[in-house]
Amino acid sequence: MTLIASHRGGSLEAPENSPTSFRHTAGLAVEQVEFDIHPTADGQIVVIHDATLDRTTNGKGPVAAKTLAELKALTIAGTEADQIMTLAEVIEVFRSTAITLRMEVKSDVEHQPYPGLLAQAVEQLRGAGMLERTVLTSFLAPLVGEAMQVEGLLGRIWLVSPVIMDDCGLDGTIAAAEAYGIAHVGIRAPRLTAGVAEYLRGAGLGVGAWAVNDAQSVRRMLALGVEVFTTDIPTTALALRSAS
Ligand code: MG
Repeated sequence: MTLIASHRGGSLEAPENSPTSFRHTAGLAVEQVEFDIHPTADGQIVVIHDATLDRTTNGKGPVAAKTLAELKALTIAGTEADQIMTLAEVIEVFRSTAITLRMEVKSDVEHQPYPGLLAQAVEQLRGAGMLERTVLTSFLAPLVGEAMQVEGLLGRIWLVSPVIMDDCGLDGTIAAAEAYGIAHVGIRAPRLTAGVAEYLRGAGLGVGAWAVNDAQSVRRMLALGVEVFTTDIPTTALALRSAS
């Protein structure tokens, strides 16, 4: 069965990466909840998509330039009073559910990896007893390669951007995955044709999809039998999967 991951808590159904969206997702029959992490200036880990605050909060500037207290003083866009959550807080929302965490390790405003963020997040998940319930994802192949060495993670997925696919081609993408010991790739849904899926699987890679955000692409990914996809419309995706 194709697994469904509620992307940023289902961002077309609730404000992304917010307490509201995660409570919404916790009540759904999805297998995974996707969210994104960045570090704070005082060494905490928070859940937010962009490296900057401007789009999804009433704050401005880089997330990593603010302390947790400064971040907690902000309000998430589209909500009455939702605050940015820590990784620890998101873990607690899902601990008592059957839902697996799908944690995307983000990069900084310069698109560079944050030193130590992966290790710190792994440590926190392990301490919370949730490492075995976490699939790690990243657009950075070296970071996913690093995660291949982390014992106990449920899975690791390299999110392959369309730019990488264009620059490297399928053979180059496969070669990069092999170089980093990566076994699973996530492809942007519009780029994942039956031919692409077959070619990647032929190279021994597990294949998933992301940005599966309308009914037609949900149906297409189900028909392709991808292992997992992220979607901003989890409720619709669940209904379509039940009907398929
Ligand atoms: Mg993400």
